Amino acid sequence: MLNITNLHAAVDDKPILKGLSLSVNAGEVHAIMGPNGAGKSTLGYVLGGREGYEVTDGTVTFDGKDLLDMAADERAAAGLFLGFQYPVEIPGVSNVQFLRTAMNAQRRARGEVEISAGDFLRLSRAQADALGISMDMMKRPVNVGFSGGEKKRNEMVQMGILDPKLAVLDETDSGLDIDALRVVGEGINRIMRKPDKAVLLITHYQRLLDIVQPDFVHVLAGGRIVRSGGPELAHELEREGYGAIAA
Ligand code: ADP
Ligand code: MG
Ligand code: MG
Repeated sequence: MLNITNLHAAVDDKPILKGLSLSVNAGEVHAIMGPNGAGKSTLGYVLGGREGYEVTDGTVTFDGKDLLDMAADERAAAGLFLGFQYPVEIPGVSNVQFLRTAMNAQRRARGEVEISAGDFLRLSRAQADALGISMDMMKRPVNVGFSGGEKKRNEMVQMGILDPKLAVLDETDSGLDIDALRVVGEGINRIMRKPDKAVLLITHYQRLLDIVQPDFVHVLAGGRIVRSGGPELAHELEREGYGAIAA
């Protein structure tokens, strides 16, 4: 599904990703761990096509297509979802407006008809219920005044409605209490643990990986994947830290 080969990327002419390679197949969950400043968020931004992140070498294909050649909205329409460490607030635009607009943009780009108001309401109610978000909250401006935990649960509502093929989730567990972590982790499993979907889960903590169990764990350090393994690698990192592996 996703094939990253020898990816180099720079921000403000500063090289950050330095030859990163990674392959993700449908049905797989890959955890990306690594020290602060390693380039984990940069990888997410580059995959999402954020401005200012310049790819200087390497290739990325998504379902066989050149991802780097696609505009950010084309990537979303192709089924890529990004959940960021710090979800943005959008004053003046309600959650439901935002989601309906995003969903219809995706449908138009795919040559599909727009969703009806009734179907959208049913869908958003079901997803919001599953994540413990009230419909009152769905009518409030996107993330404005939401707590950290509410923002992350709201992000899972967005993911459930947009129903992506590949989700790249950057520190979705940061700032969550134990109960919210469970709700969010189970949300990821419910929405994304399917044979035709895949997840890149950027995290520092085993506690999320206890709920969303990864098939592969990678250590990103110095802009590259320096080690890959199974779930046991996350336990090893938790015990021994990155020092021994990523130095
Ligand atoms: P991680 O998510 O692994 O903690 P990041 O991808 O956020 O790491 O950052 C990797 C490196 O890139 C860090 O040294 C950071 O300071 C630098 N960096 C990230 N964004 C910018 C930016 N906009 N301008 C300059 N340097 C940046
Ligand atoms: Mg960081
Ligand atoms: Mg980061």
